[in-house]
Amino acid sequence: MEKLLVDKVYGESIKVKVKDIIIGGKEKVIISGPCAIESYESLLSIAKELKKIGVHILRGGAYKPRTSPYSFQGLEEEGLKIISQVGKEVDLPVITEIMDTRDVEKAGNYTDIIQIGSRNMYNYSLLKEVGKTKIPILLKRGMSATLEEWLYAAEYIMAEGNQNVILCERGIRTFETYTRNTLDLNLVAAIKEKYRLPIIVDPSHGTGLRELVPKMSISAICAGADGLEIESHINPEKAISDARQTISIPQLVKIMEDVKKFTMYF
Ligand code: PEP
Ligand code: MN
Repeated sequence: MEKLLVDKVYGESIKVKVKDIIIGGKEKVIISGPCAIESYESLLSIAKELKKIGVHILRGGAYKPRTSPYSFQGLEEEGLKIISQVGKEVDLPVITEIMDTRDVEKAGNYTDIIQIGSRNMYNYSLLKEVGKTKIPILLKRGMSATLEEWLYAAEYIMAEGNQNVILCERGIRTFETYTRNTLDLNLVAAIKEKYRLPIIVDPSHGTGLRELVPKMSISAICAGADGLEIESHINPEKAISDARQTISIPQLVKIMEDVKKFTMYF
């Protein structure tokens, strides 16, 4: 590999600032919320709880990359408006996924962080487009991407001038089918060794099973993750999307307490 902007030899580790939150600093950053934005009322009630327990950033999908075209596709622009409004009301920065280059400019009016999903990690037009903005980008690992491919995807964004890139390990496809994906914590440790970008871990998509989320959250912190993105809901079983991997607010409270304990060691 040639010399890359992502490489530590290039300079200091990158810290991404989102309002008054620093991703890649001492404090582990917790991003949480439902997989999909379901309605204004539902997101507001979840967000109020998340704010109360000290979550740093609110997540919620407006454009959902669903495997089946017949599944709920998200509230789209209406969803962007909802998450922006709710974020303001509860005073939390927000993150949401953008899938189309045509939506990048518009997203800047609604979200503090743009998420590039696993399915779009190889969408080079989209990577270049978000690279032209200054908006922080959370770049999820493609479900079969190697470290090199993932880093090059980050490089596409950075080469356009946007250095505010956060990596997100969300599990990869392996022969194992018990879990939805195999959470590759090896790369979390490897990235902290050699590369400048902050990395957060998504144990929700990484496992697909809510009962595994607490242990994999702590494992991620021990591997060196700068934070976690966890799907949560007031009524997890009733979540429209990804219910099986969504945890309740009390479950999230417990994880956040444990994260604090383990952060003292890592
Ligand atoms: C998500 O975070 O809602 C999502 C769709 O994740 P991924 O792109 O990792 O599948
Ligand atoms: Mn999801």
